[in-house]
Amino acid sequence: MTAIDTVDIAVIGAGLGGAAAAALLVDAGFDVHCFEQAPEFTRLGAGIHIGPNVMKIFRKIGLEDRLAEIGAHPDFWFSRDGTTGEYLSRIPLGDHAKKEYGAPYITIHRGDLHAEQIDVLPKNQVHFDHRLTEIEERDSDVLMTFANGQQIAARIVIGADGINSLLREKLLGKERPRYSGWIGHRALLNMDKLRASGLEFETCVKWWWEQSRHIMAYATKGDGSEYYYVTGVPVDSWPHEEGFVDSSREEMEAIFGGGHPMVQALIDATETVTKWPFWNRDPLNLWSRGRMCLLGDACHPMRPHMAQGACMAIEDAAVLTRCLTETGIGDYANAFQVYENTRRDRATKVQTISNANTWLKEPEDPAWVYAYDPMTAALG
Ligand SMILES: Cc1cc2nc3c(=O)[nH]c(=O)nc-3n(C[C@H](O)[C@H](O)[C@H](O)COP(=O)(O)OP(=O)(O)OC[C@H]3O[C@@H](n4cnc5c(N)ncnc54)[C@H](O)[C@@H]3O)c2cc1C
Repeated sequence: MTAIDTVDIAVIGAGLGGAAAAALLVDAGFDVHCFEQAPEFTRLGAGIHIGPNVMKIFRKIGLEDRLAEIGAHPDFWFSRDGTTGEYLSRIPLGDHAKKEYGAPYITIHRGDLHAEQIDVLPKNQVHFDHRLTEIEERDSDVLMTFANGQQIAARIVIGADGINSLLREKLLGKERPRYSGWIGHRALLNMDKLRASGLEFETCVKWWWEQSRHIMAYATKGDGSEYYYVTGVPVDSWPHEEGFVDSSREEMEAIFGGGHPMVQALIDATETVTKWPFWNRDPLNLWSRGRMCLLGDACHPMRPHMAQGACMAIEDAAVLTRCLTETGIGDYANAFQVYENTRRDRATKVQTISNANTWLKEPEDPAWVYAYDPMTAALG
């Protein structure tokens, strides 16, 4: 049980966006507490991209160098034809990203990233085993009730509670996210098998077939000891109750077999692979109401094809912190409005391009995403 009954700012969810918000708000001097439903931290997920736009935020909370040390540093984002291997685009990252966009571009294990984010939070300000079950806005605060029986009041509440957000439901009513018509397979590969192919694997490459089917493959550790892929495949429905189910090498072979030898080597090195539905929601017209506001997947979930879902959550956290710093908590209504004004167009644009799955398939300038600095961008 936590020994507190009132806080200034409550962040619901200690995922990638919530943990970033809590760290930034602590850094800015706010009294902030983060409440997470999971009983303890667990190293979940697999690969994730962190662009220079977000490494600049991690710089502020002292994590940039540590993450740069753990993660892999792709020199390019390659797009290649999945059958012929022809290069469709080569987007320079590596030193180019540092010089032109102001920070490194890394690919990393989601669990490694999340562990570092949780580690920088003051232990007494992050509360596991706190699943929010009810929330009631009152005249001068918000009363939160947790599944463990505890009740805590907050002056403002930030919903960083992901795709099935309770806060979003509170603000907008019950509405299940929509199945997007796409699934993704995810696998960390057996490196011995992968190396036995004798092929050199690029640090970050997206293999494409007709109808935008693809396999995005990349390293998740700087020492080259882990390689990961995530696919995108159009499938009519998701008939399972579970959030993900097992897939198999045979299923990968049936979908992607007969492709370029490097793709075949990815399939051959697959031991454990799961498949996940991708969920969607329409761009949101309401980011906050009263003393509650949303960020990240709670607000604008997207298909992962642009590798910016978590990045948008963390950008939200940075901009929201800046807005609250400018206005103070007392004028939260103004802060929430400026936050929405600053974030809405960019998050919606990224959400739209992610869902269209066109990002970097052909040569294009990604500077509007990567060179953006959420710590200094003009507030709306
Ligand atoms: C388990 C998991 C694995 C993922 N793996 C990958 C991956 O490998 N690659 C990739 O690109 N993306 C992955 N994603 C998606 C990506 O991480 C998200 O786009 C990004 O994390 C969005 O950040 P967020 O903070 O908005 O939401 P999330 O990171 O989803 O965090 C939401 C948090 O809120 C908590 N929560 C929810 N409801 C409540 C409640 N009622 N009370 C208290 N806490 C609550 C959840 O437990 C969770 O910790 C994964 C997401 C999850 C949850």
